[in-house]
Amino acid sequence: MAEILDGKALARKMQEQLAQKVAGYVSAGHRPPGLAVLMVGDNPASAAYVKNKERSCEKVGIASFGKHLPKDVDQTELEGIIDELNADERVDGILVQLPLPQHLDAVALLNRIHPDKDADGLHPTNLGRLLRGEPGLRSCTPAGVMRLLEEYNINPAGKHAVVIGRSILVGKPLAMLLLEQNATVTIAHSKTADLAAVARSADILVAAVGRAELVTPDMVKPGAVVVDVGINRVGDKLVGDVAFDSVQAIASWITPVPGGIGPMTVTLLLYNTVWSYEQKLNLGR
Ligand code: NAD
Repeated sequence: MAEILDGKALARKMQEQLAQKVAGYVSAGHRPPGLAVLMVGDNPASAAYVKNKERSCEKVGIASFGKHLPKDVDQTELEGIIDELNADERVDGILVQLPLPQHLDAVALLNRIHPDKDADGLHPTNLGRLLRGEPGLRSCTPAGVMRLLEEYNINPAGKHAVVIGRSILVGKPLAMLLLEQNATVTIAHSKTADLAAVARSADILVAAVGRAELVTPDMVKPGAVVVDVGINRVGDKLVGDVAFDSVQAIASWITPVPGGIGPMTVTLLLYNTVWSYEQKLNLGR
């Protein structure tokens, strides 16, 4: 029976540590770190995510400079807002909540964020730094997965890691981080032949697809570590990409949904904001 990789508990611990750190900086006379979350329109899922991010910021002592814009806001206006935030000394992180309405060019907006304020780690400069193994802001979800493995002393070195999903948000950067930690990495995707056989060869299996219960026990090597990034709404329940109960019976470690990677993602956003603040103010060295 697999043990739980408890992302919720680790997220709480990390947020407490960040809060202490920030309180220390502020009591030493520094300004607080600042994060701006830009949200466009009224997508209820996005609104819930943004609210959660802002609440977490408040707990940690990060000042929020977020803006909520109407769904018909135009590209030029949004670019102007990003330019202002790039120039604002109080802001260490900027995040554009995705998805954006069709008429907006999301990639152009993400690319406009100053790389050193790119709290989501999605700017080409930061993806390039990741590829080169240089310090920089890392994408929150992949970094959250790595931090959770580290917490439970699961060392990817020499292991076969299979990442199902090749998005720029999760699959690709996570594969790079696992490679950096000396795993042998396979990226599987919608065109992979015999996904079950590929998945079954994994010591560390990550599912980042967005399909409820895609990963069934026949796809899991007994004793494997299983990380479920997926979030799928089934009726009024949130489920992952892994058939949790049956896979738990054969894996060694498993992340639950909810309570696994979700809380880690938010926490890494706060971590990135504080990291970027420390770089700018020459703190924390
Ligand atoms: P995406 O749609 O951009 O990418 C999905 C990937 O899955 C693609 O690369 C595709 O090739 C692959 N895929 C699709 N069908 C497949 C199949 N049948 N077999 C194998 N591979 C298949 O999605 P994303 O942004 O990477 O997100 C993936 C999931 O992770 C979603 O459920 C999303 O909600 C969730 N997510 C969770 C968090 C979190 O904090 N926990 C953060 C980001 C994304």
